[in-house]
Amino acid sequence: PVRVRIAPSPTGEPHVGTAYIALFNYLFAKKHNGTFILRIEDTDATRSTPEFETKVLDALKWCGLEWAEGPDVGGPYGPYRQSDRKHIYLDYVRQIEANGHAFRCFCTPERLEQMREAQRAEGKQPKYDGHCLNLTAEEVTRRVEAGEPHVVRMKIPTEGSCDFHDGVYGDVSIPWESVDMQVLLKADGMPTYHMANVVDDHLMKITHVARGEEWLASVPKHILLYRYLGLEPPVFMHLSLMRNADKSKLSKRKNPTSISYYSALGYMPEALMNFLGLFFIQIAEGEELMTMEELAEKFDPDNLSKSGAIFDIQKLDWLNGRWIREKFTEEEFTTRVLAWAMENDRLREGLKLSQSRITKLGELPDLAGFLLKSDLHLEPSAFAKVKSTPEEIVEILTTVQPELESIVEWNVESIEAKLRAIADNTGKKLKVLLAPLFVAVSGSSRSLPLFDSMAILGRSVVRQRLKVAAQ
Ligand code: ATP
Ligand code: GLU
Repeated sequence: PVRVRIAPSPTGEPHVGTAYIALFNYLFAKKHNGTFILRIEDTDATRSTPEFETKVLDALKWCGLEWAEGPDVGGPYGPYRQSDRKHIYLDYVRQIEANGHAFRCFCTPERLEQMREAQRAEGKQPKYDGHCLNLTAEEVTRRVEAGEPHVVRMKIPTEGSCDFHDGVYGDVSIPWESVDMQVLLKADGMPTYHMANVVDDHLMKITHVARGEEWLASVPKHILLYRYLGLEPPVFMHLSLMRNADKSKLSKRKNPTSISYYSALGYMPEALMNFLGLFFIQIAEGEELMTMEELAEKFDPDNLSKSGAIFDIQKLDWLNGRWIREKFTEEEFTTRVLAWAMENDRLREGLKLSQSRITKLGELPDLAGFLLKSDLHLEPSAFAKVKSTPEEIVEILTTVQPELESIVEWNVESIEAKLRAIADNTGKKLKVLLAPLFVAVSGSSRSLPLFDSMAILGRSVVRQRLKVAAQ
C-alpha cells in the first residue's frame, strides 16, 4: 500500500512551498488509495518551536489537507514528532558504526571553519576532509572516555558515483566525490535531519518520498544510509521548486510566502489548492476551475515539469475570484466571510488598535482596511500631507527599507528602536522620518499607529509597500 508523508520542520512561518509539496503527496495518496501522513522534523532544536509546529498544522488544515496519522491524531507508527523519537535513532547509528560505516569525529567547530575557509579560498565546495577517519580504536575510546565532545559521521565511497532513478528527474548520477561525510549524530546526541529522516521513513513504512528539489543532492547520502542498514529505499520524486516570474526561487523577498498571508487576505483555501494543483496536471484551457476531487482525478505524477512552477499571483487572483463568484451559494459565501473575519488575526489586532480611534464602527474599513489588502493602489496625492519634498520622501523610503532587514525579531519594540536609530543616524526628526513611511505602509495620513501596523503586516509586506511607494 502506498504511504506518503509531508515532513515539515517547524522553524518559521508555514510556507506556501510546504502546502505545494503537501498537496502533491495528498493527491498522490488519494490517487493510489494510499495513506498521507504528517511528521514533524524538529531535530534542529535551536530553530524549531512548538508555536511554529502549531502554525504548520493549522495552516495545512486550513488548506483542507487531512492526514491519517500525525502528532495531533496519533497512529500506529508514532510518535510523529522527531524530538519525541530521540531514543529510537541511537540504535541505528550504533548499528552503522558497528558495521564500520561510520566514525567518531572530534574536530572542533574552529578547525572545521578553518578547513572550510581554506577550501573556499581554493574555489572548492566545502567538505569534511577526513581528518578523524583513521583514528585508532584505542584513541577513540580514550577520547570518548575523557568526555571529549564529538559527532558521528558516515563514511562515503571514495570513487564511482551514486546512480538512482528519480520519478521526476529520471536517471540521476552523482559522483561520490561530491558527497560530504555527513554528520549522523550531533554532539548533543540528537540525530541530524538525514539520519532521522531515513530511519523514520523506514519505520513509518513510507513507500514514496516526494519533496522539494533542494533535497535531490542529498539522495546519495540517504541511499547509502538505507544500504548501510540493509533496507530498501523508497521511490524518490523531487518536485521543482516554485519560482517567481523572473525564474528566481520563490522567496519571501519577492512574494509573500506564508500561508497565513494568503488566508488573512481572503484567499479561499480551495482556490489556493486549485492553483497549486494545476502544477501537477495537464488540462486544456477553460478547465482550470477544479475542486480537490477533480484535481485528484486528473492528477498525473508521471508528467511533471522540471523547469519550475511559476507562482503567478495574477492567476491565483483570477482563480480566487472565480471561486468566490462561481463556487459558493450566497449563504455559503456569507458564512465563509464571517468565519474569515472571526479567525483573522490581522483584523483582530487591527480592531484592538482601532477602538480608541473611532466614533462609529462604519469608520473601521477606512481606518484598518489597509491591513487586509494586497495592494494599496497609492496615488501620488496620498503623500500630499507629508511635509517633505517628493525627492526627500523617496530618499527616506529607500534608506529605511534595507535597514529593516537587519531587525532580528520583527515586533513593535524592535521596529520602533530601529526607526529611532535611523532617525538619529541620519540627523532627521523622528516625525519627519515617519510621515512618509506612514503613508507608504497604510495608504493614508490618518491611520493606525505605525509601529504596530508594521508589526501586524509583517516584514515582507512592509518591504513590498516601501518599495512600491518609492517607485
Ligand atoms: P526563502 O527563500 O523565502 O527565505 P526558505 O528556503 O528560507 O525561503 P524555508 O523556510 O527554508 O524557506 O522553507 C520552508 C519549506 O518550504 C521547506 O520545506 C521548503 O522545501 C519549502 N520551500 C521553500 N521555498 C520553496 C519554493 N520556492 N518552492 C517550493 N517549496 C519551497
Ligand atoms: N524536513 C524537511 C523539510 O522541511 C523534509 C524534507 C523531506 O521531505 O525529506 O524540507
